[in-house]
Amino acid sequence: AKESGKNNFQYYKKKLSVNMHGRLNIEQALKGALKKDEIFLVYQPKYNIASKEIVGFETLARWENEKLGLIPPDKFITIAESTNDILEIGLFIFKKACIDFKDFREINTNLQTISINISTVQLYQDSFIKDIMNIIDEVGIEASSIILEITETHIMKNIFYSMRVLNELKTLGFSVSIDDFGTGYSSLNYLKQLPINELKIDKSFINDLPYDLNDVAISKAIISLSKNMGYVNVAEGIETTEQEEFLLSGGCEIGQGYLFCKPKIKDEIIQILRDKTP
Ligand code: C2E
Ligand code: CA
Ligand code: CA
Ligand code: CA
Repeated sequence: AKESGKNNFQYYKKKLSVNMHGRLNIEQALKGALKKDEIFLVYQPKYNIASKEIVGFETLARWENEKLGLIPPDKFITIAESTNDILEIGLFIFKKACIDFKDFREINTNLQTISINISTVQLYQDSFIKDIMNIIDEVGIEASSIILEITETHIMKNIFYSMRVLNELKTLGFSVSIDDFGTGYSSLNYLKQLPINELKIDKSFINDLPYDLNDVAISKAIISLSKNMGYVNVAEGIETTEQEEFLLSGGCEIGQGYLFCKPKIKDEIIQILRDKTP
């Protein structure tokens, strides 16, 4: 019994070290990712659902490491947040997105905004606003062209601090979008005080439209809530024409999803814009 106990312990010890090792490997590789040019951006068009015109893009980060392969952003962003590497990576993403959007707008002057996902680790850092102001000055783009996407859960974590930073961002002309709306626990009382411009209905409420009656009720409620509060309403993850038709007839203005276009690298987006612009 003693023997097998020891073996068990050794088994777990081995397993643990493999896990730690895996995580450490990723952490270490991530530290070198920017220098090695392994992080790149893809853009997913946002459409006016009624007119099918592209109104803007959402910036999505990708990381491809020669040993580890393509690591999904859900995974590497979380790791980068825990090591604070997200601060440097986040600014890299912000700057590159601004530069690329300027190029997109040279082709289609009707493009309105570029959306950029922001982690709260960034938002809660003292220099965040100063850093992004420096970038937009350097690149030569107005704050009013930029939508910062922040997840609902993150905003609510420290509502008073969020409120202060969001107010400052608004004063400077940035727009703020609440991402994954409906999955967190925001009190409507706080929501009404937040200086935001856009609500994004989480994909989990879109998936089973128009067949799941609860999702029908929830998405209708979010659409009417946004309208009454003066927010732009965006539906994400639209994959079927049934979903599209439901959202259009329900009054949702903006949509993105594989049905319209998958996230694509800059060159492909430029091609799409050229093909569409007479
Ligand atoms: P998110 O901000 O909610 O982004 C939407 C996700 O849905 C993206 O996944 C997008 O590729 C995917 N998507 C879009 N349309 C469809 C569709 O029709 N069907 C399906 N199944 N999926 C669709 P992605 O690119 O893997 O990103 C996952 C999450 O990682 C993002 O969720 C965001 O939270 C985070 N993320 C990605 N890029 C960044 C970034 O630059 N900074 C930060 N802080 N987070 C990022
Ligand atoms: Ca987003
Ligand atoms: Ca989302
Ligand atoms: Ca999400």
